[in-house]
Amino acid sequence: AGQERLFLTHQARSRELYQRALYSLAGGVTSSWQITRPQPIFIEKGHGSKIIDVDGNEYVDLHGGYGAGVAGHAHPAIVTAVQRQVTAGTHFAQPSEDAIIVAENLAERFGLPLWRFTNSGTEATMDAVHLMRAATGRELIIKIEGCYHGHHDSVQVSVAPDEADVGAIDDPTPVPASAGIPSAITDLTLVATFNSLGSIEAILERHQGKVAGLIIEPIMMNAGIIKPEPGYLKGLKELLARHGSLLVFDEVKSGLAAGPGGAVRLYGVRPDLVCLAKAIGGGLIVGAVGGSSEIMGRVVDGTYEMVGTFNGNPLSMAASRAMLEEVAIPESYSWLEALQSRAVREISDIIAKHALPAHVVSIGAKGCVSFSPNPVRNYRDFLKIDDRFNHLHWLTQLNGGVFLPPWGKTEQWTISVQHTDDDISLFVDNFSCFATTVAR
Ligand code: PLP
Repeated sequence: AGQERLFLTHQARSRELYQRALYSLAGGVTSSWQITRPQPIFIEKGHGSKIIDVDGNEYVDLHGGYGAGVAGHAHPAIVTAVQRQVTAGTHFAQPSEDAIIVAENLAERFGLPLWRFTNSGTEATMDAVHLMRAATGRELIIKIEGCYHGHHDSVQVSVAPDEADVGAIDDPTPVPASAGIPSAITDLTLVATFNSLGSIEAILERHQGKVAGLIIEPIMMNAGIIKPEPGYLKGLKELLARHGSLLVFDEVKSGLAAGPGGAVRLYGVRPDLVCLAKAIGGGLIVGAVGGSSEIMGRVVDGTYEMVGTFNGNPLSMAASRAMLEEVAIPESYSWLEALQSRAVREISDIIAKHALPAHVVSIGAKGCVSFSPNPVRNYRDFLKIDDRFNHLHWLTQLNGGVFLPPWGKTEQWTISVQHTDDDISLFVDNFSCFATTVAR
């Protein structure tokens, strides 16, 4: 209650705007996941690693716009690229040289030759699911319990189901993620358990010759951070290939954040298709699907028409090119690694000092604290995480000048290339303050 009162004292203008917004923006926000308690925060500007709200409060931004902010704010390379393009026209619905350069760069990083662009991660995974079906002539797809792939019908299944609904771990019950999704579509989505080849195999055996493929976050990042166990991704590829089914890596979140070539490069497994979005645009609006010549051949020959008025938009392509050529470079990854390992080490020390039943997981620019003493291997383990402390942690960080994603149990921090050692010190100091309160 004390932290909540402190929050409200400093958020008078945000409060005013929120009250006004309630009459014109549904729920007072522009996306349902912008709602924070006790109220949303209206941001005026961002620079480097910081954001400033409409009340003039400055925060170290570790929210990173739900992980899109690996470049940080107003990065000089992105600003220059966008300025160049904005005066040269922002929309032609025709290809550009920047689009070729972005595709070539992604091909090199992710080891897949052919690319198309979209305007979001949702569109990227929607096209990937359509393509799996178009390429195989099969309708069933498999997704993993606890993975999020955006808000189109086929993947709005078992995203964050309640414990009471999930069924047996070796045969998870598909649970619609939202009202408004027709069962005629979700019935085509089968659900398996992360880090279990057996649960995929059982589905493939049960539905011989009917499964188009699997879409998976190769590093789960919508249930904390759950890494694939050794051999899991390679095993998936072999298993699916044996059944004539395809493998799609949804690297919308992990993409440039986990490393320069995402999970594909980290784990050395090349899927049939990869989906990207978020960080590749350097803060602009973009998604991408890359694939093998064989699967993208269905786009080339027109079997699957992959379209969109704003696909490959010049502003997004200019920003993506700058992101790939000037920001997501080896020096940046060394810096991210240095900051992240410091954050992980110091937060882990605080957890140990106070004997908190928690541990830290990180990969590349992403990290999270899981309030469970045990490692988390899949969504069932994730359900066991103690979520009593998330809101207190979020408020303590916010009142201490650090902005994190509001759902501590599921979301993780994102460090940008513009964060500094001082930013990490503030983050760790706030964590220490929170840990002292909880341990009392
Ligand atoms: N896939 C993953 C793994 C995501 O985390 C998200 C968004 O958080 C999406 C897809 C959807 O992306 P977007 O919000 O750009 O539609």
